[in-house]
Amino acid sequence: MTTFDGSVPIHRHGYVKLLDIMGSDQDIVDAARISYDRQGDSKDRALIRYLLRHKHTSPFEMAEMKFELRMPIFVARQWVRHRTASMNEVSARYTELPDDMFVPEKVWLQSTDNKQGRAESIDDENIIGSIEMANTKAYEWYGHLLSEGVSRELARGVLPLNIYTKFVWKMDLHNLMHFLNLRLDPHAQEEIRDYATVIEKMVEEHFPLAHEAFVDYVRDAYTLSTMEVEFVRHVIKEYRKLFVPPIDDKLTELLEGLEMGSREIAAFKEKFYG
Ligand SMILES: Cc1cc2nc3c(=O)[nH]c(=O)nc-3n(C[C@H](O)[C@H](O)[C@H](O)COP(=O)(O)OP(=O)(O)OC[C@H]3O[C@@H](n4cnc5c(N)ncnc54)[C@H](O)[C@@H]3O)c2cc1C
Repeated sequence: MTTFDGSVPIHRHGYVKLLDIMGSDQDIVDAARISYDRQGDSKDRALIRYLLRHKHTSPFEMAEMKFELRMPIFVARQWVRHRTASMNEVSARYTELPDDMFVPEKVWLQSTDNKQGRAESIDDENIIGSIEMANTKAYEWYGHLLSEGVSRELARGVLPLNIYTKFVWKMDLHNLMHFLNLRLDPHAQEEIRDYATVIEKMVEEHFPLAHEAFVDYVRDAYTLSTMEVEFVRHVIKEYRKLFVPPIDDKLTELLEGLEMGSREIAAFKEKFYG
């Protein structure tokens, strides 16, 4: 859902609003062609995929996206770890923060096998009620301190991580894809993933070719360790031995069926045929 002002609501009080975009898939392609001093000699899609596959990332820095974001402070604490952005945040020294607090829709239990993760959810209105009560009490204390004339910069100290903050945030596409790769991952906290998912859709809409390459070579790709590479090489070697004459043509057909180009297939064989 998008609201009339173009923002996409997230949870009860949050949103992502796309403020500005610089560049397009074409700008990425044009920047790359300057670097090779060649014009139009490869198809745009193939070039973008080649660039990302080979981590030739600077052309992706030619595009930028700027957002207005509203999120609970516990999400913002994770967000600001991404240092390659420009940002401006609302000042709680300057303005009084409104009474907007994050309340989870469900209660998720602590995972026992992942110290950073959550396990299954339970329906427990009492626990949700306790969170709401703690939020309300903290905000009442905040109001009380302000009414006593305490400075805003000190009074805010009693507010919980559930309170919302708001900021403008700008990043180039190279770093934004890195951010998305980390924050779309199932290991990232669900609430930050909810924001990353909305931003990814905006990236897909405005940079369809770069997004497609991101999915194939970054988001859904894996890095193999030396041992894993050895294992895959061994399996392929044994498989090829089973057939006389060798079935390399069939394997090539399979790779072509996955829409891999000739250069990509050659790179695959170099990696895994040993
Ligand atoms: C699932 C998950 C769990 C996490 N848990 C924790 C945690 O428990 N505790 C915690 O403190 N953090 C945690 N983090 C944050 C994490 O360690 C990174 O700080 C964060 O993901 C930002 O990544 P980044 O540095 O690659 O991104 P950015 O800051 O955007 O930087 C992008 C890239 O620029 C380069 N770069 C930027 N700054 C420097 C620099 N100063 N020196 C060298 N290279 C630089 C690096 O190549 C970096 O990858 C977690 C992150 C995730 C995704």
